[in-house]
Amino acid sequence: MSSNGNPPVLRVAVVGSGPAGFYAAGALLGGDVPVEVDMIERLPAPWGLVRFGVAPDHPKIKSVSRAFEKIAERPGFRFLGNVEGCRDLHHADLVELYDAVVYCVGAQTDRRMGIPGEDLPGSWPATEFVAWYNGHPDYQDLDFDLAVERVVVVGAGNVAVDVARMLALTPEELGPTDTTDAAIAAITGASITEIVMLARRGPVQAAFTTPELIELGELAGCDVVVDPADLELDPASEAALEGDTNATRNLEVLRGYAARPLQGHPRRLQLRFLVSPVELTGDGRVEAVEVVRNRLEADESGRIAAVPTDERETIPCGLVFRSVGYRGVALPEVPFDERRGTIRNERGRVLDETGSPLAGVYCAGWIKRGPSGVIGTNKKDATETVELLLEDVHAGRLVPKGATAAAVDALLEERGVRVVTQSGWAAIDEAEVAAGEKLGRPRLKLCSWDALLGAAEAAGEPSPF
Ligand code: NAP
Repeated sequence: MSSNGNPPVLRVAVVGSGPAGFYAAGALLGGDVPVEVDMIERLPAPWGLVRFGVAPDHPKIKSVSRAFEKIAERPGFRFLGNVEGCRDLHHADLVELYDAVVYCVGAQTDRRMGIPGEDLPGSWPATEFVAWYNGHPDYQDLDFDLAVERVVVVGAGNVAVDVARMLALTPEELGPTDTTDAAIAAITGASITEIVMLARRGPVQAAFTTPELIELGELAGCDVVVDPADLELDPASEAALEGDTNATRNLEVLRGYAARPLQGHPRRLQLRFLVSPVELTGDGRVEAVEVVRNRLEADESGRIAAVPTDERETIPCGLVFRSVGYRGVALPEVPFDERRGTIRNERGRVLDETGSPLAGVYCAGWIKRGPSGVIGTNKKDATETVELLLEDVHAGRLVPKGATAAAVDALLEERGVRVVTQSGWAAIDEAEVAAGEKLGRPRLKLCSWDALLGAAEAAGEPSPF
């Protein structure tokens, strides 16, 4: 008990305000221990990939932010935006200032293909294109030259599908979304006639999900093209279909596309299977992708892997987006598993180099398990972490030490950090929604640091506490 007779309050820093961060905060504030949560976010705006990753033409997926706002309204929650975890507040500060820290920083970079020519101008990580069209303030100066005829998207996951679909949207489809004006102008004004998606394995192994695949066939200005020969299955893939509902439904949809006559739309999206890029070529910028045809073979673990054949092909193109997965980035002083690209942890308890739990340090989301699953997957994941944290409290391994919000505020003020709190974010949100409403759009995002901080400032923030 504290001196006032109430049970001591556990003060927790949740670093990162994406889905995992909000679900962790929700689980903490709904638990059986009195908790205060400070959500520490590098940007002035919360929601992580829900704001900056989910495709703007997927408003239903983005609407999960309403659940996040409900969590933010709970007593004990504070949003500390424009504060970078492990920079403005170092890991050692967080451990000292809070009873527990939960890192929910996602996977901050993209995986590379590791082939010659990958860094030629015109070759981009899909993650940067996604951040650009979603108005992320760090990516607005990127200059995507869409004055090309053919674009190649490498990968067969949902991000590759998002990028391919966004490139194919018409002005009418993009108009009612919160895609940035610059991206709408660039995409609708592009000279693109063909988008080619390259999957290194077969249709049964594709990582995209069926609803996303079906959407491609419903585009107003784009034909989907699939070669029926790409859908002929080897015995191992045939066997793998058994009990795999997603792969079975994907195959049905792909067969429908393969049988469908062209509608004569201005853009064409070709889904290709069993091909891997081996080199990007061009004189000073991307002019073609060299691909090798693959066959499938089960490896020692039984996983069906792509094995290159001697068959090669050149696909001329002016732009390449690699969409071969995200990768977590190590935080200073926080144990990291380089091989997995995650914080070293067991079910969310962060482990030191000896493999023992690091007292009071936890993680959730992509930085815990790697970049997989849909938004909802993070709820289960974050809940697991919080359950372990609360178990540590009940077992006496994690004891509230009388941490205070005032100590955090004082240190941030001393370091001159301009904090955007929940009311600052509310002002940004209101300004964006009001600007969007006039145009029949969900919001018009403020896309620069100055605009975001300016909108928060207009509401009396950022300010010292
Ligand atoms: P992902 O689902 O892991 O897909 C990555 C793709 O890249 C796979 O097809 C993979 O093929 C391929 N790949 C990996 N290395 C490659 C290489 N060197 N050369 C060629 N291809 C390579 O990753 P993601 O698309 O980035 O998505 C991340 C997570 O977010 C996923 O769980 C996804 O479902 C989710 N997400 C969901 C939505 C939605 O619900 N609408 C939207 C976006 C993202 P192999 O299978 O052969 O390795």
